[in-house]
Amino acid sequence: MKPACVFCGNQPNDKNKEHVFPKWLLKMTGFDKKEMSVGSNWDTKKEIVFNSLSYTFPACKSCNDAFAVIEGKVKPIMEKLLLDQDVTGLDIELLLDWFDKIRISAWLGVKYLNKDFFRMTPKYYINQRKGIKDRYLSITNTYQEGKTLNISGINTIGFMLSPTALTLRVNNLIFVNCSSDLIVSRKLGFPYRKLEIPTPDSETVDVILGRATKKMSPKIFDSKLYTPCIFIAQPIFKIYKEFQPSFYDDDYVKDNSYDHENGVGKLFMGKGGKIKTVERDDTLNFAMPDAKVNLGKIKVVQPIIDLQIELLLEPKRNLKNLTAEQKVNEFKVKKLILDSLIETAKIYNY
Ligand SMILES: [Zn+2]
Repeated sequence: MKPACVFCGNQPNDKNKEHVFPKWLLKMTGFDKKEMSVGSNWDTKKEIVFNSLSYTFPACKSCNDAFAVIEGKVKPIMEKLLLDQDVTGLDIELLLDWFDKIRISAWLGVKYLNKDFFRMTPKYYINQRKGIKDRYLSITNTYQEGKTLNISGINTIGFMLSPTALTLRVNNLIFVNCSSDLIVSRKLGFPYRKLEIPTPDSETVDVILGRATKKMSPKIFDSKLYTPCIFIAQPIFKIYKEFQPSFYDDDYVKDNSYDHENGVGKLFMGKGGKIKTVERDDTLNFAMPDAKVNLGKIKVVQPIIDLQIELLLEPKRNLKNLTAEQKVNEFKVKKLILDSLIETAKIYNY
């Protein structure tokens, strides 16, 4: 694989390096000198261990500098969250951007470290995925002492084929982050994906949308997620609004968007079984004093695998445009991913 900038995918003209985990995060968690494991190589079965500081990717200087601005703003947001201090809606949007970057770079990282098991050139890089699709972030404060940095769910075949969901643990906070097409829209009352009709040799997937349900539910996913938690979900619909404008010409959608023109929905905050929208300048707090009683009773890896399985199976697909062979292939690939995720869930039963 030719070196490609982790942000834009072009060949960088100068030798800049981008860390998957920023230095401030490594320092904050005591991992600036420690090695970190992300699982094992699928070919050799050897554990992939790397020195976090040298876990870097090529990047253009301009891309690197542009992201450094977000990076600089996220550090104080993380510090506030660790201490249960107030943040704003805008802070959380920045944090979601940052998680888009962590997810995509972790994905590219595991691809490289597995020596590109699937021999596929990435179709997209960080810039093509930042703030482009529906996103979700849950935060759990364990109130546990001690420093740690841990990432789960990235060394699965499911994640490799589609980097939708991961868990990141930063000291006393556990984040579950996921992002993919319209994954939170339906539960937030927005137009949603009713059916996918894949067409051979077409890069795009044809989607049949359902009309906005105008009802919000605090239960976004069926799988049992990391709990207790406070979560944020945000519909992002620019691509789908261009595709089916009439579905988005809707008062509910407009009222619940920060930027309807550009397809940016509001943040929805779920807390204690209730859900509501928040404004960008609202003050938000993620303290959860009740979490302590559940400490040690919650599995960390299992929920993220369950969520990956749910996201994999969620879109209903009509295969009428595929040949018999393509249909068989579709089932084979899905079964392969599913079996592998179920196997992973068995191995990592904690
Ligand atoms: Zn670049």
